[in-house]
Amino acid sequence: MIGGGIHGATAALFLARGGMRVALFERGGLCREASGVNAGTLTMQMTRVALIPYALQGHAMWASAREWLGHDVGTVVTDGLSLAFTEREAALLDERAARRRDAGAPIRIVTAAEARAIEPGLSDRPILAAHCPVDGFTASYLTGKAYRAALLDAGVALYEHTPVLAVEPGATYGVRTAGGTRYAQRVVFAGGVWIEPMLAWLGVHLPIKVLVNQLAVTERTPPVMRTVVGIASGLLSLKQYPNGTTVIGGGWQGCGDRARGGEALLPERLVGNIRLACHAIPALAGARLARAWAGLEAETADAMPAVGPVPGFEGAYVVGSVHSGYTSGLYIARLLAAHILGREPPLPLFPIDRLVGTPPASKDPTHG
Ligand SMILES: Cc1cc2nc3c(=O)[nH]c(=O)nc-3n(C[C@H](O)[C@H](O)[C@H](O)COP(=O)(O)OP(=O)(O)OC[C@H]3O[C@@H](n4cnc5c(N)ncnc54)[C@H](O)[C@@H]3O)c2cc1C
Repeated sequence: MIGGGIHGATAALFLARGGMRVALFERGGLCREASGVNAGTLTMQMTRVALIPYALQGHAMWASAREWLGHDVGTVVTDGLSLAFTEREAALLDERAARRRDAGAPIRIVTAAEARAIEPGLSDRPILAAHCPVDGFTASYLTGKAYRAALLDAGVALYEHTPVLAVEPGATYGVRTAGGTRYAQRVVFAGGVWIEPMLAWLGVHLPIKVLVNQLAVTERTPPVMRTVVGIASGLLSLKQYPNGTTVIGGGWQGCGDRARGGEALLPERLVGNIRLACHAIPALAGARLARAWAGLEAETADAMPAVGPVPGFEGAYVVGSVHSGYTSGLYIARLLAAHILGREPPLPLFPIDRLVGTPPASKDPTHG
C-alpha cells in the first residue's frame, strides 16, 4: 500500500484482516495530509448524488468506529442543515435535496422556522433549509492515531516517514525506497493528489486536479450551535466541536500545489468564508480565530472516484479522488479490499479506464 491517508489505511486494514500480508508505505505520518487536516464533516448534503449510497455506509462506519476500528476518532452524529438565503438558492436547495433523496439520503425541505427549531443558533437570514438527520463530524486529526493502532493490531507492516521513490513492474512489483527495494505481488496506489505522479512510475497517465481547500478554527467558546450547517451553493461548512471550537470551511481556495502543499492562505477568501459563517450563526461574530490552514484535495476529470485495477498491470490498483472522501472513502476503500481479496463488493468500484488514455503496453509480458 503506497499512501497512508484514509483510503490507503482503510484498504490496508481490511486486506490484513482478510488474511493478506500487507506493508504500508507513507511518506510522512499516517493521515497527516488531506485525511488529517480536513473539516471532518460527514454529510450527505454536499456528497455527489452517485456517491450517496457509499456515503451512507461511510457515515455508518464512522458512527461505529469504536467497534470495527477499535479506537476513537471523536465521531459526533448530529443533524445537518443546508441553508438558502435567496430565492435562487432556495430553488437550488430544492433541486439538490430531491436528487439526493432519490439516491437514498433522508433529506427533507423545512421552513426557516423549523430550521431554527432544529438549530437555535441560526440567524433570521435563511428563507429555507434542507434537513438531514444523517450528518455529523469527527475530529479528523485523530484519524492517524486511531488507524496506526488498528493497523499494528492487524499485523500490517507500517513504514511511516518512508517515501516510495518508484515502483518497478516485473514478475513482482519492486517498491523502491531510500532503504532499498521490497517486492510485492500486488501494489495499491493510494496517494491522494499524488496518485498522478505515482501512476507515472508505470507510464500510466491519470490526470488529477489539485484543490487547495482553506479551513479555519475559532477559539473555544460557549455553545453557539449543535448541528452541521452548510449552504445550498456548498460554500460553507460549519460545526462546533464538544471542546467549544468551531471549524469553518466550505472549499474556499488557497494557494499551493502538489510539490509545495497547501502553501498560502488567501486572507480575502478567508474573510469571505468567515462572514458567511457569521451570517448563518451570528454568535460566531464574538469568537476569535485561533488558526487557519489549507489542505490538498484530489479531483479527477469527471469528479468521480478513481478506484479499481490499473489497466494493463495485473495486481496493481488505485484508490482515491473520492469527492467528500472523508465521509465515504473508508467504505469505498473497504470495497476495493473486498475486490482484491476475490470477493464481490456489495457496490460497484469506479474503474479508471474512463480516465486514462490508451493503456500503455505492459513493460513486462507477465503483467498483461
Ligand atoms: C481542507 C480539506 C477539507 C476537507 N473536508 C472534508 C470534509 O469535511 N468531509 C469530507 O468528506 N471530505 C473532506 N475533504 C476530502 C477528504 O479529506 C479527502 O477526500 C480524503 O481525505 C482523501 O484521502 P486519501 O487517502 O485519498 O488522500 P490523502 O489523505 O492525501 O493521503 C495520501 C497519502 O499519500 C502519501 N504519499 C504521497 N506520496 C507518497 C509517496 N511517494 N510515498 C508514500 N506515501 C506518499 C501522502 O503523504 C498522504 O498521506 C477535505 C479535504 C481537504 C483538503
